[in-house]
Amino acid sequence: MRLRFAPSPTGALHIGGARTALFNWLLARHAGGALVLRIEDTDRERSTPENVEQILDALRWLELDWDEGPILQSARSERHREVLERLLHSGRAYRSSATAEDVQEYKRRHGAERGFRGAEERSGAVRLRVPEEGATVVHDAIRGETSFEHVHLDDPVIARADGSALYNFAVAIDDLDAAITHVVRGEDHLSNTPKQLLVLEAALAAGIRPLPAGAEPSLPVYAHLPLLHGPDGRKLSKRHGAASVQELRHAGYLPSAVRNYLALLGWGATDDATVLSTEALIEQFSLERVSRSPARFDETKLRWLDGVHLRELPAQELARRLEQFIGEAGLASEAQLSADPQRLVGAARISREKMQTLAEFWPLAGFFFTGPVEDPSARERWLDERGRALLAQARDALALAGAPDFDEPAVEAALAEVLERTGAKARDLYQPLRVAIAGRAVSPGIFESVALLGREETLARVDAALAPR
Ligand code: GLU
Repeated sequence: MRLRFAPSPTGALHIGGARTALFNWLLARHAGGALVLRIEDTDRERSTPENVEQILDALRWLELDWDEGPILQSARSERHREVLERLLHSGRAYRSSATAEDVQEYKRRHGAERGFRGAEERSGAVRLRVPEEGATVVHDAIRGETSFEHVHLDDPVIARADGSALYNFAVAIDDLDAAITHVVRGEDHLSNTPKQLLVLEAALAAGIRPLPAGAEPSLPVYAHLPLLHGPDGRKLSKRHGAASVQELRHAGYLPSAVRNYLALLGWGATDDATVLSTEALIEQFSLERVSRSPARFDETKLRWLDGVHLRELPAQELARRLEQFIGEAGLASEAQLSADPQRLVGAARISREKMQTLAEFWPLAGFFFTGPVEDPSARERWLDERGRALLAQARDALALAGAPDFDEPAVEAALAEVLERTGAKARDLYQPLRVAIAGRAVSPGIFESVALLGREETLARVDAALAPR
């Protein structure tokens, strides 16, 4: 199998493009085939080097690699001209000065259903000669067969008068030259397919690709992926939340979760499993199970999946990713995090039950590194007279706790003893302590948090909270 991903670098890589890239990648990896990356940069105005870099960067972040390329479509213009000459020479294409108005006029006279044929001239744009008879049949692996009667098809313009190739021509020739066996792309390209097939057939008939004796020229299999909708059933757009891979990255999603989620947009495992590792996706992915109906992008489900993937990461690995995320987001300095690397691993371990994305870590656990945050309402609510009295008791108990280790069970036992002695409710003891160490009323588990901070740091923070302000 030879597949390709052919983005137009006119902006960021969007969810739809990322899904197309992923499906091609999964098919290539499943079959032990090759994935070709082709950058369709013929729109010179919009295809900037920054946009190309942005797309490559998004693919790298998604951990989707490619085997050949990136091939720039713009670098192939000589080849496009060469094929065009062959088609003109063999009579399968012709020059014509017919304009869009001429085509409209023709339709007015002959009926809209009747395909337009131009008059051959010495100069003008290049049109492909659609055979009078027969039909072009698109075999789509997802949608089945669609037949396009030639009488209804206009002779398509394939190059401008200056000989520069138009989109459908360039795509078809590039697919042919790269020996692509499967064209897997978004449904919006369905209507281009008959034109591209006609170009391929004409090019093969004109002998642009010498075949070994006896070999049949073969055309690629097409597969058009279903549209993407938002949860409201409308075409996916910005208003449905994160729209580009870059935005997903900044929102703190893990690439493995994004791959898992994108794979489910139009595809499903035989057992309907939702949580799938990339290895499982590669093993199970097939075009046969891609659906025709629109898929729904729902960020709530992605968040949930991200939480699942996050909890499956070893704490060391999670810490590594958190460090990178926090650094990139500029939430903390490297010095703050690397002063005690074990603290980050520990904080990752005790926080992940309460997190769905990397972005949720810092608001929850930043206090381990920066000291208690400022939250006057939490102080007011929990550090009143009674709260401070209980906090003082907790302080004394923790000061004596845990020989030899100041660990979670030791902290729990020390606090249990205070509860028993004072008859206080757990919450009335734990919340003041939480506010003392974290500054706020939400944190990872209190025993784990206190144990991670260590006795010295905990007592210092409690003392600071008890000190008159
Ligand atoms: N360049 C096209 C796009 O970004 C894809 C063309 C194709 O896959 O045939 O939408």
